[in-house]
Amino acid sequence: MAIISSSLNESDSSRPKKGLRIVGSEILPEDTENKKGRFNRPETLTEFIGHEELKQSIRLAIDASLYREECLEHILLYGQPGLGKTTLALLIANEMKTTCKVTNASLIERPRDIVGLLLGLKSNEILFIDEIHRLNNLTQEILYSAMEDFKLDLTVGANRGTRLRSINIKKFTLIGATTKLASISNPMRDRFGICQKIELYSVTDLESIISYYANCLGLKIEKEANSILANSSRGTPRIALRLLKRSRDFAQVMKNSNTISKDVVKSALNYQRIDNKGLDQTDRRFINFLFENNSGPIGLDAIAAALGEDSSMLEFVVEPYLLQLGFIVRTPRGRKLSSLGEQYCNELQKDI
Ligand code: ADP
Repeated sequence: MAIISSSLNESDSSRPKKGLRIVGSEILPEDTENKKGRFNRPETLTEFIGHEELKQSIRLAIDASLYREECLEHILLYGQPGLGKTTLALLIANEMKTTCKVTNASLIERPRDIVGLLLGLKSNEILFIDEIHRLNNLTQEILYSAMEDFKLDLTVGANRGTRLRSINIKKFTLIGATTKLASISNPMRDRFGICQKIELYSVTDLESIISYYANCLGLKIEKEANSILANSSRGTPRIALRLLKRSRDFAQVMKNSNTISKDVVKSALNYQRIDNKGLDQTDRRFINFLFENNSGPIGLDAIAAALGEDSSMLEFVVEPYLLQLGFIVRTPRGRKLSSLGEQYCNELQKDI
């Protein structure tokens, strides 16, 4: 793939750092909010673009609980990183006219961590726990009675003096987010009144998301440029926003302009080594490996070992998009390339 020569060089901040992928799932520093508030997350369900059915069922639940003046049912959101789970939790709190405490399951290690969080909640407040599948068993058990009866059942004292104490807590809504629904225990899953999957976005929805953020950033974007960006975003708003920001760097540095043209987008994607399908080097290495070893399906662990990648990253970040494109097939004996994937690899070989 051609890499353009430009005044931006290898050490530029716009090039992904080693080990980090611009189309990857890790949250990069640039993904955090702009302090000037110009790069805002949508704050209402109406501003949240796409996924109409999901929004309708959340809207119904919000309106019903506002009508009954009750707190909202617990909600479990699952789907790949960057699809808007945190954004939804924050805007649900906004629509419920309450606040949202945001945490990550990896930060809740000891029972006192979750007890402290629950005791600190205000009435009807929302607690958002990201990566909820990572909660340990003890924490989950404390959460069960908290979610069901708004009580904390705690064992206090030691040895002979051990006794059970039940403490009432304020009514609250737990919104859990996960990329791994299967890793959530059944008792935990059963305690969520609403369980919603967030799918990858359509190209049309991504175009609207790109226009929305271009507007927030004070940029003009040409229709064709927007379409190329949307097609390269792997169905994921977070990636669409990153690519838009990278294109902005090019427009401003190379053209001294705030207009994102088709040429600017192509240069930005080339620079990041992302092709017009949104595939980067990790994706290409993955399917090339299957192409070069196409005698039969290959197990994920074998692919991960050969590529020197983490198998979980391949399974949850790389594969879903390749499956969505129809480039690979999952079989009980492993992964293999589809005819579409083979076609892509053949074209890739011609380009080299
Ligand atoms: P997740 O929690 O699923 O990893 P986030 O909620 O952090 O994803 O979303 C990543 C970025 O994409 C945020 O900047 C968010 O505002 C934006 N985003 C996600 N979904 C939408 C959407 N439907 N409409 C507009 N922006 C969105």
